[in-house]
Formats: sequence, C-alpha cells, structure tokens
Amino acid sequence: METNTGSVLADPRWNTFTRQGFTCSCGDRHTGLFPIHLHHPVGWPGKDEYESDNTLRLDGDFLSANFCVVQGKFFAMRVRLPFLMRGAEPAAFMFTAWASLDRADFEAFIDAYKTGKLDPDTRVRARLVNRVGGFPDSFNLMGSAFQQPDGGPALLLIHGLQAGVNNNHQLMVEQRDGIGVDRMLELFAAYGHDMRSGIPLTN
Ligand SMILES: [Zn+2]
Repeated sequence: METNTGSVLADPRWNTFTRQGFTCSCGDRHTGLFPIHLHHPVGWPGKDEYESDNTLRLDGDFLSANFCVVQGKFFAMRVRLPFLMRGAEPAAFMFTAWASLDRADFEAFIDAYKTGKLDPDTRVRARLVNRVGGFPDSFNLMGSAFQQPDGGPALLLIHGLQAGVNNNHQLMVEQRDGIGVDRMLELFAAYGHDMRSGIPLTN
C-alpha cells in the first residue's frame, strides 16, 4: 500500500490525467476516471449474456445488467463501490460490483426501483459477492447498500464487521480513507488498463 497520504491535487499526475489523459496498454488514451464494471457475481452458473431487467424472475436462474438470482435462493444486485480520490472528492475511482441481499430486502429494492421511489435514507445489509481485482480476497465482505435516487445502482459501503472477517481489510480501509494516484493506477492495471508507462513526464 502506498505511504503517501496527501491530496491528489498535490500530485501533478492527477492534473495531467484529468486534462490530457494517459496512454493505456489497451490501446486507448484515457482522460479522467472511468468506471470498471464487474460482469456478474461469483458463483453465477449461467451464460454471460444479460436478459432485460424487466424480465426479472425470482425463481430459477436469472441474470441482467442489474439483477442476479441463482436457484431462486440467492439474490444480488449491481452496486456502486467507490474509492474517493483523496483531496479531490467527490471524484472517485468507481467499480460497479455485485452485492447479495436477503430476499425481502431485494424485493423491496426492486419495488422502489420499478416505481421510481428510491430513497437515499434506505439502507440494507449487503454482502460483496465479487473478488475485486487489486485487493486481497474481497468475497463476502459485509456492508450496507444505500438506494440512490438517480435510479442507478445502489451505493455499497463496506464495514466488514462480520465475525471471522478481517476488519481492517484493505478494501474497507481504502473506501474509508480514499486513494492516491499510484493506487488508482494499480487498480486500473488490474483490469487491463495499465497506464503506468503512458504518463507524460512532468517536473
Ligand atoms: Zn485502457
């Protein structure tokens, strides 16, 4: 983990990244932050293709861009998992990942989602069900999911208070404290966007 705890505003690479961009191992040039979308939860047994959110079924297996049901017993939804850029908040490195919920909480979320009544004060227990790249095993970290009134995925904040789980998990600590430019570059590189050799020289 990086030892630098200062603001990214004091790091000339941040300014360069947000204004000029960096060339990337993927062949593109990226200017500013972009989200990394994880396709499905760990354990999804089916194909990679998404069905429509509107055809959600609570029995059997179902996968859409935002909802996942396995064997009518496991319920998960897409969530936003942000890591604030230290000193440049609200700028955040963003994963969209998957969180599993109790069936009752899942159904309540679906209802609020379909009726446009998502409420930021509504929070439910949720479990991260991805092994997020660039971190120690993050599968099953506990958190809270907050509905977001913009209609997009809920916000997942990890608190890691489950017995037997490391309560200083790197993912929880970095979500709480924010990250710097080096860590941002590591996380992008973990998903095939290595820009570490594409940074223009600055002085
Ligand atoms: Zn790239």
